[in-house]
Amino acid sequence: MRLRNITGSREVIAESPFVVREEVLEQCPGTWHEIFGNPHPIHIEVGMGKGRFIYNMAKAHPDVNYVGIEKYSSVLLRAIQKMEEEELPNLKFIRMDAEDIDKVFGRAEVDRIYLNFSDPWPKDRHAKRRLPSRQFLARYDVILQKEGTLEFKTDNRDLFDFAVEELEPAGWKAQVITYDLHSDPKLMEGNIMTEYEEKFSSMGNPIYKYVIYR
Ligand code: SAM
Repeated sequence: MRLRNITGSREVIAESPFVVREEVLEQCPGTWHEIFGNPHPIHIEVGMGKGRFIYNMAKAHPDVNYVGIEKYSSVLLRAIQKMEEEELPNLKFIRMDAEDIDKVFGRAEVDRIYLNFSDPWPKDRHAKRRLPSRQFLARYDVILQKEGTLEFKTDNRDLFDFAVEELEPAGWKAQVITYDLHSDPKLMEGNIMTEYEEKFSSMGNPIYKYVIYR
């Protein structure tokens, strides 16, 4: 995913009707149902990359509102291009660093959070940048409703082990943990593959997944 410097991507994003503009993000907490114009649940993917997973989820579940969050303009551009081919009314994008996620969604405004193949940040001193770290779990705790769940998939065993170890100190519990998602027919029901999931599972890597709650 090295698409960070596509010329003009920032301009395209600034003008795209599918992206919530950076200038208005601070006004968004508590208004997401108004933004979508319906009371449907709000599910978000943090670090969506080119958006294949969230686009296909939005297509499969028209009664759920989806928000895809991506740090890099040039990657987000790919998701915008997909929406230009076939627009989905229940999908919006945000270009931002998810460190500020609790400034963009209100308390308990989100019903589900997805993390897929998050960057591993292998150095210990970067652990707090990992999207399933306790620092990020504390941010998700604010925006996720009480009964809400967070789902995380990865093929990176070190990152997955780290994520599982973070649960208890952060006050979360596992509802589901699997070390081979693709061999579990029940957990595979309704599974939508991400770009990375397609790539790494086709190389024979097992896919790890948890579903957590507090
Ligand atoms: N979720 C996609 C998938 O499974 O195919 C993309 C996985 S890719 C390895 C991770 C993505 O997360 C990258 O596009 C990266 O820019 C984005 N990302 C990483 N840290 C982020 C952060 N703090 N805020 C927003 N996006 C982030």
